[in-house]
Amino acid sequence: MKNSNAIQDCLCDFAPLQETNLTQRLEDAKGDAKVLTFSPREQETRQRVAGATRARRLLLCLDGVPFDVIREAKTRGLFDGFNAPSRLLSPFPTMTNIALSAMLKASVPVGYESRYFDRNTRELRGGAQKYIGRRTPEKIPSTYMDELDYQEPLPFEYLVYFAPEKIFRADIQRFREKFRRAPQDRDYFAFLKGTDGLMHMRGTESLSVVLESLDRLLTEIKTFCGDETEVALFSDHGMNLEENRRVHLQTHLRRCGFQITNRLNGANDKQQVVLPAFGLIGFAALFCEEQTSPKLADALVPLEGIDFSLYRDGENIVGVKGWRGSARIHRRERDGRALYAYEQVEGDPLQLASIFRSLSEDGLMDAEGFASDEAWAERTGEHIYPDALNNLYTSIQQTRVRHPADVLVSLKDGYYYGSALFSRIVRLAATHGNAMRASTSAFLMSTHREFPNHVRGSEAQPLLRE
Ligand SMILES: [Zn+2]
Repeated sequence: MKNSNAIQDCLCDFAPLQETNLTQRLEDAKGDAKVLTFSPREQETRQRVAGATRARRLLLCLDGVPFDVIREAKTRGLFDGFNAPSRLLSPFPTMTNIALSAMLKASVPVGYESRYFDRNTRELRGGAQKYIGRRTPEKIPSTYMDELDYQEPLPFEYLVYFAPEKIFRADIQRFREKFRRAPQDRDYFAFLKGTDGLMHMRGTESLSVVLESLDRLLTEIKTFCGDETEVALFSDHGMNLEENRRVHLQTHLRRCGFQITNRLNGANDKQQVVLPAFGLIGFAALFCEEQTSPKLADALVPLEGIDFSLYRDGENIVGVKGWRGSARIHRRERDGRALYAYEQVEGDPLQLASIFRSLSEDGLMDAEGFASDEAWAERTGEHIYPDALNNLYTSIQQTRVRHPADVLVSLKDGYYYGSALFSRIVRLAATHGNAMRASTSAFLMSTHREFPNHVRGSEAQPLLRE
């Protein structure tokens, strides 16, 4: 990737700058919200809708807002009209396209990010060029985007990282105008991306301010729409709110004798590694010859900032190697239901030993150490690695992305991997992407319904759309 493209990267979602008049955009972004008004004709339409089997729904996704931040905002009195938030568990790697494609049961994205390794041609594909200009069909990473009634115009995805407060206020204003003009007899789905950039650049303090603006807007909407419209507010992933340091992955791998390349062709004694570097995020996807995977995962263990690496270790087995040891995740199906086992090889890399024991003591584990997916999920919803076995096993299967990594790395909180140039020009206040609780715990709450304490992202679609 050339530097001129690197500077166009978003911090996490890699949408580049296009021909944009920054001054004009910022000018557009000025001004606070005006009071919402609806014409008498719209009022009539709203009343006709009230007899439907369920209330009309405004579905509003706030990019990257963590469960803890929303819970804290509610204790301050914001979002008063909402029931208590649930933890919505974002799939690993905790990134927007992966999360929303799973949460809306939309098409599976090609890769973890827009630049990805194609397992068929065995080379790097995609990148900045694909994202320049309008959102045409081939630039849509997943069909969830077809469901959106509102998302910010593409140039703003980039600008949000330079003037996050202004861009977010403008985004709220545009959403309110479009929502006001929308037909009142069907659901409305909006995605506000500005919250993600705001937290990456400024941390939670300025987020508190924009959440107050959002709360005022939602109060206005509720005043007009009344009980006939349910508001369901959720996020796609959480965020680790520590200041972050870069992990020197490429330097380390070269020292270990690997060759970093854009294409795998079996040369150099199969020591080649393809390692896309994009946004400044808490995971890394590595591609190599199949037999090289365990060796690569081993080589990463001593590197500062690496929590653990995952790789396919035979059919229905995923290997885990990290600073706390190594393990295997086994999956099998019985009577159409998934079962998982956690085999500790050395130490306890996923911190599941005590849950393993409790499942065994409660008679929920068979002689071979398998317990049902539901039993594991039920006991790990608030774990340091929420829903660890199902989530991590699936992260390197084709059900999550069409071209999954050979070695998928989850970094510790406080560390990121990504573009070297971009990391020199920004100070990263927060990021996401890893499999830990802060990034995994998105939220879901509604004015009309209550949800379970934790909801797996891939099981959210009926709650969001049905
Ligand atoms: Zn982000």
